[in-house]
Amino acid sequence: MSATALLCEPARLDWSQPGGPRAQDFGDVYFSVEDGLEETRSVFLRACGLPEAWQGKPVFTVGELGFGTGLNALALWALWRAQGNPSGWLHLVSVEKHPLTRQDAERALSAWPQLKPMTHRLLQQWPSLFKGPHRLIFPEDRFSITIFQDEAEAALTQMDMRADAWFLDGFAPACNAAMWSQSVLDQIGRLSRPGARIGTFTVAGAVRRGLAQAGFEVSKQPGFGRKRERLEAIYGGKGEPTVSSQAPILIRGAGIAGASLARALRVRGREVRVIDPNGVAGGASSAPAGLLTPRLEKADRPHVRATLAAFDFARRLYEPLAEFHPTGVDRLAKDGKEAERFSDLAGLMGEGYAWTGEMLEMAASGWFEPAALVTRLLGEVPVAREGERGDGEILIHATGAHFDLDGDITPSAGRVGVFKGRVPDRPLSWGGYLAPTPQGDVLLGATHIKGWAPGEGDAALSAFHQDLAARRADLAETIDPLPVSSWGGVRASTPDRLPVAGLVSEDTYVLSGLGSRGFAHAPLLAELIASQICHEPLPLERGAIEVFRPQRFAERRARRGG
Ligand SMILES: Cc1cc2nc3c(=O)[nH]c(=O)nc-3n(C[C@H](O)[C@H](O)[C@H](O)COP(=O)(O)OP(=O)(O)OC[C@H]3O[C@@H](n4cnc5c(N)ncnc54)[C@H](O)[C@@H]3O)c2cc1C
Repeated sequence: MSATALLCEPARLDWSQPGGPRAQDFGDVYFSVEDGLEETRSVFLRACGLPEAWQGKPVFTVGELGFGTGLNALALWALWRAQGNPSGWLHLVSVEKHPLTRQDAERALSAWPQLKPMTHRLLQQWPSLFKGPHRLIFPEDRFSITIFQDEAEAALTQMDMRADAWFLDGFAPACNAAMWSQSVLDQIGRLSRPGARIGTFTVAGAVRRGLAQAGFEVSKQPGFGRKRERLEAIYGGKGEPTVSSQAPILIRGAGIAGASLARALRVRGREVRVIDPNGVAGGASSAPAGLLTPRLEKADRPHVRATLAAFDFARRLYEPLAEFHPTGVDRLAKDGKEAERFSDLAGLMGEGYAWTGEMLEMAASGWFEPAALVTRLLGEVPVAREGERGDGEILIHATGAHFDLDGDITPSAGRVGVFKGRVPDRPLSWGGYLAPTPQGDVLLGATHIKGWAPGEGDAALSAFHQDLAARRADLAETIDPLPVSSWGGVRASTPDRLPVAGLVSEDTYVLSGLGSRGFAHAPLLAELIASQICHEPLPLERGAIEVFRPQRFAERRARRGG
């Protein structure tokens, strides 16, 4: 695997046969040509004891090898909607090395008109080709899908969950041995709750022996349609008591971090309250306008996968909201070296990223109205100006630069200016940036000053205008050179410029260190913390969770003996 390939190779489909697509590289079908949906119900859903098995469980997790067209996901979702556990949440955590394009998935799934309402919602959130996990959430149905886009063994090694059921739906062992290796089957054991059930279409001897070696009791069952047999298996050991704490949650801080946390926990039915002495969006999350752009890095590393997934997650969350404007954003290169980097990145990031010879066009990016977005995400959650932590309350610090992490979170002040002028169709960035404001003005920014004081900054803001004039005189001459107003705020920086998210002490979590991209990174990191609190499968790779762990700086110091 190339360390610079950020994208998976999409599946190459052969549509020439009747009954559905075949994977060209594996020479196998995605679903039974007889009746794929009925086969899914028999080989996976009923084999795993559904719907009975999820009754009484606050969180029920299904693992899957081979997301494919998403047919199993839709069949599971349909059963959950019809006979689900009204007080529970269903998670499907799947693995796919060669994702289908949205167009191919749409074509394949058109064979099942009875699934159309869910198909439409799945396709709306269909993930990009970025490697690593992608979480899709359907809160109205209390259902999530997390697709790890990677080689099966690599993906499973990076998962953190306790599955109650598994659908082993890779291409047949004869076509795709890597999907059924002993290491893969051992990982399935590691990730299973005692009593977890497996359904699969294959009865290959190596799979039976491998599952037994991984701790499963395996039995052959009558097969579906023309297939003689299929397998069921149960993971050994006694059932663990399901953890179902419903402790109320206090969030300190009502910026984008606090609002994302409040939303993630509220949709899970948790009791949440927020305290902020400055009210809603009284800190850094209240600039006149902001840009939603991905962090641009070329290497395939855990934090790069996570920040790209976070950008995609935020984009999906904001897309239907009026406070987000999906205009795309252009990024100018400042010199030849950066031009080369952006040109490489356009190739590495695929659909939606294009290098024009002058700038990187980022179609999925856009601008937003920060305070209004925070207010929208908070919804009905009450925000008080003062109050104390109650007995038994879980606490989450979302206090931006105010969070004291042994000096590892530091303030970085900044100011943006609002100018009169012609509002650009598309925001532009070059180190500085230009964006529309909701009032129809133009925003130019932003300064970076160590410490808490953003300064007065008119001279610094006029310098952005001159900077723009040197790069795009055509745009600069439509904008007045002096600002009519300005806004200052304080970012929370960390030594490695990555956020801080996770447990700090018993029942106490933090989400901070969001730097210059809080609106891109907060929603998925909030989803991570909500999943940790609710004992759900985690939406990030284990490697990425380590990267964001609050203790990392202290541990690095300890290793250096400092
Ligand atoms: C000039 C500038 C431009 C920026 N532009 C962009 C952009 O274009 N795109 C982007 O994504 N990001 C941008 N950012 C970064 C973004 O604003 C931050 O990453 C984000 O707002 C951080 O959100 P937060 O919720 O962690 O912190 P904040 O929004 O600062 O919220 C923290 C809250 O905690 C409260 N608080 C403090 N102490 C306590 C306490 N003891 N108890 C309770 N509450 C407390 C504060 O009142 C504050 O409201 C910009 C930042 C600046 C300064």
